[in-house]
Amino acid sequence: MPHLAPSRRHVAVIGAGPGGLAAAMQLAAAGARVTVFEKDAVVGGRSRTLETPEGFRFDLGPTFFLYPRILAEIFASCGARLEDEVELVKLDPHYRLQFEGGPTIEATSDVARMEAEIARLNPADAAGLRPWLAENRRKLHAFKPVLERAFGRAADMMGGDMLRALPLLRPHRSLDADLRRHFKDERVRLAFGFQAKYLGMSPFRCPSLFTILSFLEYEHGVFHPIGGCGAVAAAMARVAARLGVAFRLDTPVERIALAAGRAVGVEAGGQRHAADAVVVNADFAHALPRLLPNAARRQWPDKRIAAARYSCSTFMLYLGVAGALPELAHHNVLLAGDYRRNIHQIEQGELPDLPSLYVQHAGVTDPTMAPPGHSSLYVLVPVPNLKHGADWAAEAPRYRALALARLRALGLPDIEARIRCERMVTPQHWQDEFAVGHGATFNLAHDLGQMLVFRPGNRFADVPGVYLVGGGTHPGSGLPVIYEGARITAGLVRQDLGLDALQGAVA
Ligand SMILES: Cc1cc2nc3c(=O)[nH]c(=O)nc-3n(C[C@H](O)[C@H](O)[C@H](O)COP(=O)(O)OP(=O)(O)OC[C@H]3O[C@@H](n4cnc5c(N)ncnc54)[C@H](O)[C@@H]3O)c2cc1C
Repeated sequence: MPHLAPSRRHVAVIGAGPGGLAAAMQLAAAGARVTVFEKDAVVGGRSRTLETPEGFRFDLGPTFFLYPRILAEIFASCGARLEDEVELVKLDPHYRLQFEGGPTIEATSDVARMEAEIARLNPADAAGLRPWLAENRRKLHAFKPVLERAFGRAADMMGGDMLRALPLLRPHRSLDADLRRHFKDERVRLAFGFQAKYLGMSPFRCPSLFTILSFLEYEHGVFHPIGGCGAVAAAMARVAARLGVAFRLDTPVERIALAAGRAVGVEAGGQRHAADAVVVNADFAHALPRLLPNAARRQWPDKRIAAARYSCSTFMLYLGVAGALPELAHHNVLLAGDYRRNIHQIEQGELPDLPSLYVQHAGVTDPTMAPPGHSSLYVLVPVPNLKHGADWAAEAPRYRALALARLRALGLPDIEARIRCERMVTPQHWQDEFAVGHGATFNLAHDLGQMLVFRPGNRFADVPGVYLVGGGTHPGSGLPVIYEGARITAGLVRQDLGLDALQGAVA
Protein backbone atom coordinates (compact mmCIF):
# COMPACT_ATOMS: atom_id res chain seq x y z
CA MET A 1 0.00 0.00 0.00
CA PRO A 2 2.68 2.52 -1.00
CA HIS A 3 0.41 5.52 -1.73
CA LEU A 4 -1.63 5.49 1.44
CA ALA A 5 -0.99 8.21 3.98
CA PRO A 6 0.10 6.78 7.34
CA SER A 7 -3.07 5.58 9.02
CA ARG A 8 -3.70 3.69 12.20
CA ARG A 9 -3.73 -0.01 11.66
CA HIS A 10 -6.45 -1.84 13.53
CA VAL A 11 -5.66 -5.01 15.49
CA ALA A 12 -8.44 -7.20 16.90
CA VAL A 13 -7.40 -9.30 19.91
CA ILE A 14 -9.62 -12.28 20.77
CA GLY A 15 -9.45 -12.87 24.50
CA ALA A 16 -8.31 -10.78 27.47
CA GLY A 17 -6.13 -13.42 29.16
CA PRO A 18 -2.53 -12.60 30.08
CA GLY A 19 -1.33 -13.21 26.52
CA GLY A 20 -4.05 -11.04 24.93
CA LEU A 21 -3.53 -8.22 27.41
CA ALA A 22 0.25 -8.23 26.97
CA ALA A 23 -0.11 -8.14 23.18
CA ALA A 24 -2.77 -5.40 23.29
CA MET A 25 -0.63 -3.14 25.48
CA GLN A 26 2.42 -3.48 23.29
CA LEU A 27 0.57 -3.01 20.01
CA ALA A 28 -1.23 0.08 21.29
CA ALA A 29 2.12 1.47 22.47
CA ALA A 30 3.44 0.81 18.94
CA GLY A 31 0.69 3.02 17.51
CA ALA A 32 -1.97 0.51 16.46
CA ARG A 33 -5.65 0.95 17.20
CA VAL A 34 -6.46 -2.11 19.28
CA THR A 35 -9.80 -3.68 20.21
CA VAL A 36 -9.91 -6.56 22.67
CA PHE A 37 -12.95 -8.84 22.34
CA GLU A 38 -13.53 -10.89 25.49
CA LYS A 39 -16.32 -13.43 25.83
CA ASP A 40 -16.60 -12.94 29.61
CA ALA A 41 -17.53 -9.91 31.68
CA VAL A 42 -14.05 -9.69 33.23
CA VAL A 43 -10.46 -9.65 32.02
CA GLY A 44 -7.74 -12.10 33.07
CA GLY A 45 -8.99 -15.38 31.57
CA ARG A 46 -7.66 -18.28 33.64
CA SER A 47 -5.70 -15.65 35.61
CA ARG A 48 -8.70 -13.73 36.92
CA THR A 49 -9.46 -13.36 40.61
CA LEU A 50 -12.84 -14.65 41.75
CA GLU A 51 -14.69 -12.49 44.26
CA THR A 52 -17.66 -13.70 46.30
CA PRO A 53 -20.46 -11.53 47.75
CA GLU A 54 -19.17 -12.51 51.22
CA GLY A 55 -15.84 -10.79 50.48
CA PHE A 56 -13.64 -13.82 49.76
CA ARG A 57 -11.14 -13.61 46.90
CA PHE A 58 -9.54 -16.53 45.10
CA ASP A 59 -7.16 -16.76 42.23
CA LEU A 60 -8.96 -18.84 39.63
CA GLY A 61 -5.77 -20.34 38.17
CA PRO A 62 -2.21 -19.03 38.62
CA THR A 63 -1.01 -18.41 42.16
CA PHE A 64 2.77 -18.61 41.65
CA PHE A 65 3.97 -15.37 40.10
CA LEU A 66 7.49 -16.02 38.83
CA TYR A 67 10.12 -13.95 37.07
CA PRO A 68 8.34 -10.56 36.97
CA ARG A 69 11.21 -9.11 34.96
CA ILE A 70 9.58 -9.84 31.59
CA LEU A 71 6.31 -8.16 32.53
CA ALA A 72 8.21 -5.24 34.06
CA GLU A 73 10.00 -4.76 30.73
CA ILE A 74 6.69 -4.88 28.87
CA PHE A 75 5.20 -2.27 31.21
CA ALA A 76 8.29 -0.09 30.70
CA SER A 77 7.94 -0.38 26.92
CA CYS A 78 4.39 0.94 27.39
CA GLY A 79 5.48 3.91 29.51
CA ALA A 80 4.32 2.38 32.81
CA ARG A 81 6.00 0.86 35.84
CA LEU A 82 4.87 -2.56 37.05
CA GLU A 83 5.75 -1.64 40.63
CA ASP A 84 3.45 1.41 40.47
CA GLU A 85 0.54 -0.72 39.31
CA VAL A 86 0.83 -3.93 41.36
CA GLU A 87 2.34 -4.68 44.74
CA LEU A 88 4.43 -7.84 44.42
CA VAL A 89 5.51 -9.54 47.64
CA LYS A 90 8.50 -11.89 47.47
CA LEU A 91 7.73 -15.00 49.49
CA ASP A 92 10.22 -16.57 51.86
CA PRO A 93 9.83 -19.49 52.17
CA HIS A 94 8.48 -19.99 48.66
CA TYR A 95 6.31 -22.90 49.73
CA ARG A 96 6.07 -25.83 52.08
CA LEU A 97 6.43 -29.30 50.60
CA GLN A 98 4.83 -32.00 52.71
CA PHE A 99 5.90 -35.55 51.94
CA GLU A 100 2.90 -37.54 53.03
CA GLY A 101 3.41 -39.05 56.45
CA GLY A 102 6.98 -37.77 56.49
CA PRO A 103 9.11 -34.64 56.62
CA THR A 104 8.53 -31.21 55.12
CA ILE A 105 10.76 -28.85 53.16
CA GLU A 106 10.45 -25.09 53.40
CA ALA A 107 11.83 -24.11 49.98
CA THR A 108 13.82 -20.87 49.97
CA SER A 109 16.21 -18.89 47.75
CA ASP A 110 18.55 -18.57 50.75
CA VAL A 111 21.09 -21.16 49.61
CA ALA A 112 22.52 -21.95 53.07
CA ARG A 113 19.02 -22.45 54.50
CA MET A 114 18.00 -24.55 51.52
CA GLU A 115 21.07 -26.74 51.96
CA ALA A 116 20.00 -27.30 55.56
CA GLU A 117 16.46 -28.18 54.39
CA ILE A 118 17.84 -30.74 51.93
CA ALA A 119 20.21 -32.12 54.56
CA ARG A 120 17.24 -32.89 56.83
CA LEU A 121 16.09 -35.30 54.11
CA ASN A 122 19.47 -36.54 53.00
CA PRO A 123 22.74 -34.97 54.22
CA ALA A 124 24.72 -36.12 51.15
CA ASP A 125 22.37 -34.36 48.74
CA ALA A 126 22.88 -30.91 50.26
CA ALA A 127 26.19 -30.64 48.38
CA GLY A 128 24.30 -30.99 45.11
CA LEU A 129 22.46 -27.68 45.41
CA ARG A 130 25.18 -25.19 44.42
CA PRO A 131 26.40 -27.18 41.37
CA TRP A 132 22.77 -27.64 40.30
CA LEU A 133 22.15 -23.90 40.56
CA ALA A 134 25.33 -23.13 38.61
CA GLU A 135 24.44 -25.62 35.87
CA ASN A 136 20.93 -24.24 35.50
CA ARG A 137 22.21 -20.68 35.44
CA ARG A 138 24.23 -21.66 32.36
CA LYS A 139 21.27 -23.54 30.92
CA LEU A 140 18.86 -20.62 31.28
CA HIS A 141 21.46 -18.29 29.80
CA ALA A 142 21.82 -20.62 26.79
CA PHE A 143 18.07 -21.09 26.27
CA LYS A 144 16.94 -17.52 26.87
CA PRO A 145 17.58 -16.39 23.27
CA VAL A 146 15.69 -19.45 22.00
CA LEU A 147 12.69 -18.64 24.17
CA GLU A 148 12.72 -15.00 23.09
CA ARG A 149 12.32 -15.41 19.34
CA ALA A 150 9.80 -16.82 16.90
CA PHE A 151 9.99 -20.31 15.40
CA GLY A 152 8.09 -20.20 12.13
CA ARG A 153 10.06 -22.42 9.76
CA ALA A 154 12.18 -25.55 9.96
CA ALA A 155 15.26 -23.40 9.29
CA ASP A 156 14.64 -21.59 12.60
CA MET A 157 15.76 -24.77 14.35
CA MET A 158 19.23 -24.27 12.95
CA GLY A 159 19.93 -20.80 14.38
CA GLY A 160 23.23 -20.20 16.16
CA ASP A 161 21.37 -19.85 19.49
CA MET A 162 19.83 -23.31 19.01
CA LEU A 163 23.18 -24.86 18.20
CA ARG A 164 24.70 -23.29 21.31
CA ALA A 165 21.81 -24.49 23.52
CA LEU A 166 21.56 -28.02 22.06
CA PRO A 167 24.36 -29.61 24.10
CA LEU A 168 22.41 -28.63 27.23
CA LEU A 169 19.07 -29.90 25.91
CA ARG A 170 19.66 -33.63 26.51
CA PRO A 171 16.47 -34.49 24.60
CA HIS A 172 16.19 -38.09 25.74
CA ARG A 173 16.60 -37.39 29.42
CA SER A 174 13.60 -36.72 31.66
CA LEU A 175 13.57 -33.96 34.24
CA ASP A 176 13.85 -36.55 37.02
CA ALA A 177 16.76 -38.35 35.33
CA ASP A 178 18.56 -35.03 34.97
CA LEU A 179 18.07 -34.26 38.66
CA ARG A 180 19.48 -37.68 39.55
CA ARG A 181 22.88 -36.40 38.48
CA HIS A 182 22.77 -34.05 41.47
CA PHE A 183 20.42 -35.58 44.04
CA LYS A 184 20.21 -39.25 45.05
CA ASP A 185 17.18 -39.00 47.34
CA GLU A 186 13.90 -39.33 45.44
CA ARG A 187 12.22 -36.85 47.81
CA VAL A 188 14.87 -34.22 47.11
CA ARG A 189 14.41 -34.79 43.40
CA LEU A 190 10.68 -34.33 43.82
CA ALA A 191 11.33 -31.01 45.57
CA PHE A 192 13.10 -29.80 42.41
CA GLY A 193 10.94 -31.70 39.92
CA PHE A 194 7.31 -31.40 41.03
CA GLN A 195 7.29 -28.04 39.17
CA ALA A 196 6.69 -30.10 36.00
CA LYS A 197 3.11 -29.96 37.23
CA TYR A 198 3.12 -26.23 36.38
CA LEU A 199 3.07 -27.50 32.79
CA GLY A 200 0.64 -30.27 33.66
CA MET A 201 3.34 -32.88 33.11
CA SER A 202 5.12 -35.60 35.04
CA PRO A 203 8.76 -35.11 36.11
CA PHE A 204 9.37 -38.65 34.88
CA ARG A 205 8.40 -37.67 31.32
CA CYS A 206 8.86 -33.91 31.16
CA PRO A 207 11.97 -32.94 29.10
CA SER A 208 15.05 -32.19 31.20
CA LEU A 209 15.03 -28.64 29.83
CA PHE A 210 12.41 -27.80 32.44
CA THR A 211 14.74 -27.95 35.41
CA ILE A 212 14.84 -24.23 34.61
CA LEU A 213 11.34 -23.94 36.15
CA SER A 214 12.48 -24.68 39.69
CA PHE A 215 15.73 -22.81 39.00
CA LEU A 216 13.69 -19.67 38.23
CA GLU A 217 12.11 -19.98 41.68
CA TYR A 218 15.44 -20.33 43.49
CA GLU A 219 17.27 -17.72 41.44
CA HIS A 220 14.58 -15.06 41.07
CA GLY A 221 12.02 -15.83 43.77
CA VAL A 222 8.31 -16.61 44.02
CA PHE A 223 6.01 -13.59 44.24
CA HIS A 224 2.46 -12.97 45.37
CA PRO A 225 0.63 -10.01 43.81
CA ILE A 226 -1.47 -8.30 46.49
CA GLY A 227 -5.11 -8.91 45.58
CA GLY A 228 -4.19 -12.09 43.69
CA CYS A 229 -2.88 -12.74 40.18
CA GLY A 230 -6.07 -11.11 38.88
CA ALA A 231 -4.62 -7.81 40.14
CA VAL A 232 -1.85 -8.19 37.55
CA ALA A 233 -4.37 -8.74 34.75
CA ALA A 234 -6.38 -5.74 35.98
CA ALA A 235 -3.23 -3.59 35.95
CA MET A 236 -2.44 -4.69 32.40
CA ALA A 237 -5.96 -3.79 31.29
CA ARG A 238 -5.62 -0.38 32.99
CA VAL A 239 -2.36 0.40 31.20
CA ALA A 240 -3.82 -0.86 27.92
CA ALA A 241 -6.91 1.36 28.35
CA ARG A 242 -4.67 4.37 29.03
CA LEU A 243 -2.95 3.66 25.71
CA GLY A 244 -6.35 3.73 24.02
CA VAL A 245 -7.15 0.00 23.80
CA ALA A 246 -10.92 -0.52 23.52
CA PHE A 247 -12.33 -3.43 25.54
CA ARG A 248 -15.47 -5.19 24.33
CA LEU A 249 -16.35 -7.40 27.28
CA ASP A 250 -19.15 -9.98 27.18
CA THR A 251 -18.46 -10.19 23.45
CA PRO A 252 -17.50 -13.66 22.22
CA VAL A 253 -15.98 -13.72 18.76
CA GLU A 254 -17.85 -16.21 16.61
CA ARG A 255 -15.40 -16.41 13.74
CA ILE A 256 -12.48 -14.76 12.06
CA ALA A 257 -13.55 -13.04 8.84
CA LEU A 258 -11.58 -14.12 5.78
CA ALA A 259 -11.18 -12.62 2.33
CA ALA A 260 -9.07 -14.37 -0.29
CA GLY A 261 -7.67 -16.62 2.42
CA ARG A 262 -6.52 -13.72 4.61
CA ALA A 263 -7.92 -12.54 7.95
CA VAL A 264 -9.72 -9.24 7.51
CA GLY A 265 -11.49 -8.92 10.85
CA VAL A 266 -13.68 -10.71 13.35
CA GLU A 267 -17.39 -11.41 13.65
CA ALA A 268 -18.93 -10.91 17.04
CA GLY A 269 -22.52 -10.30 18.13
CA GLY A 270 -23.69 -10.55 14.53
CA GLN A 271 -21.39 -7.70 13.45
CA ARG A 272 -18.22 -7.68 11.42
CA HIS A 273 -15.29 -5.66 12.76
CA ALA A 274 -12.63 -5.03 10.15
CA ALA A 275 -9.03 -5.47 11.26
CA ASP A 276 -5.60 -5.51 9.64
CA ALA A 277 -4.47 -8.28 11.99
CA VAL A 278 -6.23 -10.68 14.34
CA VAL A 279 -4.44 -11.89 17.47
CA VAL A 280 -5.98 -15.02 19.00
CA ASN A 281 -5.52 -15.42 22.76
CA ALA A 282 -8.45 -17.79 23.20
CA ASP A 283 -7.28 -21.34 24.01
CA PHE A 284 -5.80 -22.85 20.85
CA ALA A 285 -7.43 -26.29 21.05
CA HIS A 286 -10.84 -24.89 21.88
CA ALA A 287 -10.93 -21.79 19.72
CA LEU A 288 -9.17 -22.54 16.46
CA PRO A 289 -11.68 -25.17 15.25
CA ARG A 290 -14.46 -22.67 16.01
CA LEU A 291 -12.88 -19.49 14.68
CA LEU A 292 -11.45 -20.73 11.38
CA PRO A 293 -12.89 -23.30 8.95
CA ASN A 294 -11.09 -26.62 8.81
CA ALA A 295 -10.30 -26.14 5.14
CA ALA A 296 -8.38 -22.96 5.92
CA ARG A 297 -6.02 -24.80 8.29
CA ARG A 298 -3.60 -26.83 6.23
CA GLN A 299 -1.01 -27.44 8.96
CA TRP A 300 -3.42 -27.48 11.89
CA PRO A 301 -6.64 -29.16 10.66
CA ASP A 302 -9.17 -30.38 13.24
CA LYS A 303 -7.69 -33.85 13.02
CA ARG A 304 -4.24 -32.72 14.11
CA ILE A 305 -5.60 -30.51 16.89
CA ALA A 306 -7.68 -33.42 18.18
CA ALA A 307 -4.75 -35.83 18.00
CA ALA A 308 -2.29 -33.49 19.74
CA ARG A 309 -1.05 -34.31 23.25
CA TYR A 310 -2.47 -32.21 26.05
CA SER A 311 -1.57 -31.37 29.64
CA CYS A 312 -3.45 -32.79 32.60
CA SER A 313 -6.43 -30.93 34.03
CA THR A 314 -7.20 -29.78 37.54
CA PHE A 315 -10.07 -30.30 39.97
CA MET A 316 -10.50 -27.11 42.00
CA LEU A 317 -12.17 -26.13 45.25
CA TYR A 318 -12.32 -22.50 46.35
CA LEU A 319 -13.34 -22.45 49.99
CA GLY A 320 -14.21 -19.45 52.12
CA VAL A 321 -13.75 -20.71 55.68
CA ALA A 322 -14.30 -19.31 59.17
CA GLY A 323 -11.27 -18.59 61.32
CA ALA A 324 -7.52 -18.53 60.86
CA LEU A 325 -5.45 -21.44 59.54
CA PRO A 326 -2.09 -21.27 61.32
CA GLU A 327 -1.36 -24.84 60.17
CA LEU A 328 -0.73 -23.65 56.62
CA ALA A 329 1.99 -21.73 54.80
CA HIS A 330 1.09 -19.43 51.88
CA HIS A 331 1.70 -22.25 49.35
CA ASN A 332 1.44 -25.88 50.48
CA VAL A 333 2.15 -28.90 48.33
CA LEU A 334 1.19 -32.34 49.59
CA LEU A 335 3.15 -34.99 47.71
CA ALA A 336 1.28 -38.29 47.82
CA GLY A 337 3.07 -41.18 49.54
CA ASP A 338 3.10 -43.08 46.27
CA TYR A 339 3.77 -40.12 43.99
CA ARG A 340 4.72 -42.31 41.03
CA ARG A 341 1.45 -44.23 41.20
CA ASN A 342 -0.43 -40.94 41.49
CA ILE A 343 1.19 -39.65 38.30
CA HIS A 344 0.84 -42.96 36.51
CA GLN A 345 -2.90 -42.94 37.20
CA ILE A 346 -3.23 -39.44 35.70
CA GLU A 347 -1.29 -40.52 32.62
CA GLN A 348 -3.50 -43.57 32.25
CA GLY A 349 -6.61 -41.40 32.46
CA GLU A 350 -7.68 -42.70 35.87
CA LEU A 351 -8.77 -40.42 38.68
CA PRO A 352 -6.06 -40.74 41.36
CA ASP A 353 -7.40 -42.52 44.44
CA LEU A 354 -4.88 -40.90 46.81
CA PRO A 355 -3.96 -37.70 44.98
CA SER A 356 -1.24 -35.16 45.60
CA LEU A 357 -2.66 -31.70 46.07
CA TYR A 358 -1.74 -28.06 46.29
CA VAL A 359 -3.34 -25.62 48.71
CA GLN A 360 -2.92 -21.87 48.67
CA HIS A 361 -3.65 -19.86 51.80
CA ALA A 362 -2.89 -16.39 50.47
CA GLY A 363 -4.09 -14.81 53.73
CA VAL A 364 -0.66 -15.63 55.21
CA THR A 365 0.69 -12.75 53.08
CA ASP A 366 -2.35 -10.83 51.93
CA PRO A 367 -5.20 -9.78 54.23
CA THR A 368 -7.23 -8.51 51.25
CA MET A 369 -8.04 -12.09 50.22
CA ALA A 370 -10.68 -12.79 52.92
CA PRO A 371 -12.98 -10.86 55.25
CA PRO A 372 -11.69 -10.37 58.82
CA GLY A 373 -11.73 -13.56 60.87
CA HIS A 374 -11.93 -15.75 57.75
CA SER A 375 -9.58 -17.45 55.30
CA SER A 376 -9.67 -18.19 51.57
CA LEU A 377 -8.45 -21.62 50.58
CA TYR A 378 -7.59 -22.63 47.05
CA VAL A 379 -7.34 -26.39 46.59
CA LEU A 380 -5.96 -27.86 43.35
CA VAL A 381 -5.89 -31.58 42.55
CA PRO A 382 -4.18 -32.63 39.28
CA VAL A 383 -6.48 -34.99 37.34
CA PRO A 384 -6.65 -36.33 33.76
CA ASN A 385 -7.99 -34.06 31.03
CA LEU A 386 -11.29 -34.78 29.32
CA LYS A 387 -9.76 -36.76 26.47
CA HIS A 388 -9.86 -39.67 28.91
CA GLY A 389 -13.61 -39.29 29.26
CA ALA A 390 -14.39 -39.02 33.00
CA ASP A 391 -18.03 -38.17 33.78
CA TRP A 392 -17.56 -35.19 36.07
CA ALA A 393 -21.26 -34.70 36.73
CA ALA A 394 -21.12 -38.07 38.48
CA GLU A 395 -17.59 -37.87 39.92
CA ALA A 396 -17.60 -34.33 41.32
CA PRO A 397 -19.28 -34.99 44.73
CA ARG A 398 -17.03 -37.99 45.40
CA TYR A 399 -13.93 -36.06 44.39
CA ARG A 400 -14.91 -33.08 46.52
CA ALA A 401 -15.16 -35.39 49.53
CA LEU A 402 -11.80 -36.94 48.66
CA ALA A 403 -10.10 -33.52 48.32
CA LEU A 404 -11.49 -32.40 51.69
CA ALA A 405 -10.33 -35.66 53.27
CA ARG A 406 -6.85 -35.11 51.82
CA LEU A 407 -6.66 -31.77 53.66
CA ARG A 408 -6.26 -33.86 56.82
CA ALA A 409 -2.76 -34.80 55.67
CA LEU A 410 -1.96 -31.07 55.79
CA GLY A 411 -3.23 -30.83 59.38
CA LEU A 412 -6.77 -29.62 58.61
CA PRO A 413 -9.18 -32.29 59.93
CA ASP A 414 -12.31 -30.18 60.44
CA ILE A 415 -12.41 -27.90 57.43
CA GLU A 416 -15.85 -28.94 56.10
CA ALA A 417 -17.67 -27.62 59.18
CA ARG A 418 -15.97 -24.25 58.73
CA ILE A 419 -16.87 -23.69 55.07
CA ARG A 420 -18.93 -20.51 54.62
CA CYS A 421 -18.90 -20.37 50.84
CA GLU A 422 -17.61 -22.65 48.17
CA ARG A 423 -17.06 -23.04 44.45
CA MET A 424 -15.97 -26.09 42.53
CA VAL A 425 -14.37 -26.17 39.07
CA THR A 426 -13.95 -29.55 37.37
CA PRO A 427 -12.28 -30.33 34.02
CA GLN A 428 -15.76 -30.11 32.51
CA HIS A 429 -16.15 -26.55 33.80
CA TRP A 430 -12.71 -25.64 32.43
CA GLN A 431 -13.93 -26.74 29.03
CA ASP A 432 -17.53 -25.52 29.08
CA GLU A 433 -17.25 -22.27 31.07
CA PHE A 434 -13.67 -21.21 30.54
CA ALA A 435 -13.30 -22.42 26.93
CA VAL A 436 -10.23 -24.57 27.63
CA GLY A 437 -9.90 -27.38 25.07
CA HIS A 438 -10.30 -30.85 26.65
CA GLY A 439 -10.15 -29.05 30.02
CA ALA A 440 -6.35 -29.30 29.61
CA THR A 441 -5.60 -26.39 31.90
CA PHE A 442 -1.95 -26.01 30.85
CA ASN A 443 -2.58 -26.28 27.12
CA LEU A 444 -0.77 -28.48 24.61
CA ALA A 445 1.76 -30.71 26.37
CA HIS A 446 5.32 -29.41 26.41
CA ASP A 447 7.07 -32.45 25.01
CA LEU A 448 9.80 -31.79 22.48
CA GLY A 449 7.51 -32.87 19.65
CA GLN A 450 5.17 -29.96 20.48
CA MET A 451 7.67 -27.22 21.17
CA LEU A 452 9.53 -24.60 19.16
CA VAL A 453 8.74 -25.06 15.46
CA PHE A 454 6.40 -27.98 16.28
CA ARG A 455 4.09 -25.79 18.39
CA PRO A 456 1.47 -23.58 16.69
CA GLY A 457 3.43 -20.51 15.59
CA ASN A 458 3.14 -16.95 16.91
CA ARG A 459 2.46 -15.96 13.30
CA PHE A 460 -0.17 -18.58 12.44
CA ALA A 461 1.21 -20.00 9.22
CA ASP A 462 -2.12 -21.35 7.92
CA VAL A 463 -3.90 -17.99 7.59
CA PRO A 464 -2.09 -14.72 6.84
CA GLY A 465 -3.14 -11.98 9.23
CA VAL A 466 -3.74 -14.37 12.15
CA TYR A 467 -1.36 -14.40 15.11
CA LEU A 468 -1.38 -16.44 18.32
CA VAL A 469 -0.61 -15.53 21.93
CA GLY A 470 -1.05 -17.52 25.14
CA GLY A 471 -0.07 -20.91 26.47
CA GLY A 472 -0.92 -22.74 23.23
CA THR A 473 1.80 -21.06 21.19
CA HIS A 474 5.58 -20.68 21.45
CA PRO A 475 7.31 -20.58 23.92
CA GLY A 476 4.51 -22.20 25.99
CA SER A 477 2.39 -22.04 29.13
CA GLY A 478 3.08 -20.26 32.45
CA LEU A 479 2.83 -16.52 32.96
CA PRO A 480 6.40 -15.34 32.28
CA VAL A 481 6.56 -17.53 29.20
CA ILE A 482 3.19 -16.29 27.99
CA TYR A 483 4.30 -12.66 28.41
CA GLU A 484 7.46 -13.44 26.46
CA GLY A 485 5.35 -15.10 23.76
CA ALA A 486 3.15 -12.00 23.55
CA ARG A 487 6.28 -9.92 23.11
CA ILE A 488 7.37 -12.15 20.21
CA THR A 489 3.89 -12.00 18.64
CA ALA A 490 3.60 -8.22 19.04
CA GLY A 491 6.99 -7.89 17.34
CA LEU A 492 5.77 -9.94 14.36
CA VAL A 493 2.55 -7.90 14.06
CA ARG A 494 4.51 -4.66 14.24
CA GLN A 495 6.81 -5.91 11.52
CA ASP A 496 4.04 -7.20 9.26
CA LEU A 497 1.88 -4.08 9.61
CA GLY A 498 4.88 -1.78 9.34
CA LEU A 499 3.90 -0.15 12.62
CA ASP A 500 7.39 1.08 13.43
CA ALA A 501 7.71 2.76 10.03
CA LEU A 502 4.23 4.27 10.39
CA GLN A 503 5.04 5.65 13.83
CA GLY A 504 8.21 7.15 12.41
CA ALA A 505 6.22 8.74 9.57
CA VAL A 506 3.62 10.16 11.98
CA ALA A 507 6.36 11.53 14.21
C1 LIG B 1 -5.49 -24.01 37.74
C2 LIG B 1 -4.36 -23.30 37.05
C3 LIG B 1 -3.21 -22.97 37.77
C4 LIG B 1 -2.17 -22.29 37.14
N1 LIG B 1 -1.10 -21.92 37.90
C5 LIG B 1 -0.13 -21.15 37.34
C6 LIG B 1 0.85 -20.56 38.18
O1 LIG B 1 0.84 -20.73 39.41
N2 LIG B 1 1.80 -19.78 37.59
C7 LIG B 1 1.82 -19.55 36.23
O2 LIG B 1 2.68 -18.83 35.75
N3 LIG B 1 0.85 -20.09 35.43
C8 LIG B 1 -0.11 -20.86 35.94
N4 LIG B 1 -1.13 -21.35 35.14
C9 LIG B 1 -1.01 -21.32 33.65
C10 LIG B 1 -1.26 -20.01 32.88
O3 LIG B 1 -0.42 -19.00 33.34
C11 LIG B 1 -2.69 -19.50 32.93
O4 LIG B 1 -3.57 -20.49 32.53
C12 LIG B 1 -2.89 -18.27 32.01
O5 LIG B 1 -4.05 -17.59 32.40
C13 LIG B 1 -3.05 -18.64 30.55
O6 LIG B 1 -3.08 -17.45 29.83
P1 LIG B 1 -3.48 -17.34 28.30
O7 LIG B 1 -3.03 -15.99 27.84
O8 LIG B 1 -3.00 -18.51 27.56
O9 LIG B 1 -5.06 -17.37 28.19
P2 LIG B 1 -6.33 -17.52 29.12
O10 LIG B 1 -6.04 -17.12 30.51
O11 LIG B 1 -6.93 -18.84 28.88
O12 LIG B 1 -7.27 -16.41 28.47
C14 LIG B 1 -7.93 -16.61 27.24
C15 LIG B 1 -9.09 -15.64 27.16
O13 LIG B 1 -9.79 -15.81 25.92
C16 LIG B 1 -11.19 -15.67 26.17
N5 LIG B 1 -11.93 -16.28 25.05
C17 LIG B 1 -12.02 -17.61 24.75
N6 LIG B 1 -12.78 -17.77 23.62
C18 LIG B 1 -13.14 -16.53 23.22
C19 LIG B 1 -13.91 -16.03 22.13
N7 LIG B 1 -14.45 -16.85 21.19
N8 LIG B 1 -14.11 -14.71 22.03
C20 LIG B 1 -13.58 -13.84 22.96
N9 LIG B 1 -12.85 -14.26 24.01
C21 LIG B 1 -12.62 -15.58 24.13
C22 LIG B 1 -11.36 -16.38 27.50
O14 LIG B 1 -12.57 -16.02 28.14
C23 LIG B 1 -10.14 -15.86 28.26
O15 LIG B 1 -10.40 -14.65 28.93
C24 LIG B 1 -2.23 -21.99 35.75
C25 LIG B 1 -3.38 -22.32 35.05
C26 LIG B 1 -4.43 -22.94 35.68
C27 LIG B 1 -5.68 -23.22 34.90
